[in-house]
Amino acid sequence: MLVALAGGVGASRLLYGLAKLVPPEKLTIIVNTGDDIEMHGLHISPDVDTVIYMLAGLIEERRGWGIRGDTFHCLEMLGRYGCETWFRLGDKDLATHIYRTMLLKQGTPLSVATEKIRKMLGVEPKIIPMTNDRVETWIITDVGEMHFQEYYVKRRFRDRVLGVVYRGIRDASPAPGVLEALRGAEAVVLCPSNPIVSIGPILALKGVRRTLVECEAEKIAVSPFVGSKPVKGPADRLMEGLGVEPSAYGVAKLYADFLDKFVLDVRDEALRDRIEALGIEVIIADTLMKTPADRIRLARVVLKSITRF
Ligand code: GDP
Repeated sequence: MLVALAGGVGASRLLYGLAKLVPPEKLTIIVNTGDDIEMHGLHISPDVDTVIYMLAGLIEERRGWGIRGDTFHCLEMLGRYGCETWFRLGDKDLATHIYRTMLLKQGTPLSVATEKIRKMLGVEPKIIPMTNDRVETWIITDVGEMHFQEYYVKRRFRDRVLGVVYRGIRDASPAPGVLEALRGAEAVVLCPSNPIVSIGPILALKGVRRTLVECEAEKIAVSPFVGSKPVKGPADRLMEGLGVEPSAYGVAKLYADFLDKFVLDVRDEALRDRIEALGIEVIIADTLMKTPADRIRLARVVLKSITRF
């Protein structure tokens, strides 16, 4: 079994490639839910939906999130009622959130709701939200504390980061199947996702990090940095705010206690020796995934570097 730890956009691109090359019954994807937010009374799981829409062939490729060709009539109408519209929810996308919320209100755990959604959209690999409990990533900034989505989407990550908190993490348990998947895995792939707000919450869940340290699986991460900058989003600003070097080296160091291999972008090759000094084997590749062919090429690099799979 190959187990992937995933955030949203960067992860979904690599997962597209992995899903083309790995039989579905051999791929399990554990997705961050620290970005989840309640909006207009609905439970939104942005990372889970990005991964599902990508694997279902529904994704809006240009943006990297949401459903291709979606319209925004409902959001426009909500705006007329004075509701907040900074979190862009398309009409078809809203159906997913309505359906998920309906299931949650009936007492269905998030993991079961996710299973239903991905099956109904024809996605074959197993997708597990990291927890069924409520965990929210909040960013402490120079202008106050706010939900990650407010920091990222509403305020477009302009505020200075002083800290990051995963609210609820101490009382949360990994969703059923998460630790079992890690224990039974031949390989664990950490997708090119934001290490602080996408992979960080998964690693912070009770038992996950320890299981990664102890399990037999080969552990390999793909860098979200390309040419000393994240491809998108605030990974560098969040890392800087937490006193972590904002680079591929900084990412590798965050995973150094359990990581075996690191796929470093060719443009960052100068960091190779420092990463290897952490005891991590470095694989150099072009990690920029602009086209579907790029995603398959990078997935092939990842699979080739795993000796046990
Ligand atoms: P988000 O919650 O949707 O922002 O999810 P992620 O954390 O998975 O995605 C953002 C991260 O993915 C950023 O740190 C990006 O640098 C990284 N990323 C996005 N596209 C690519 C790509 O084509 N190649 C690589 N190496 N990283 C990427």
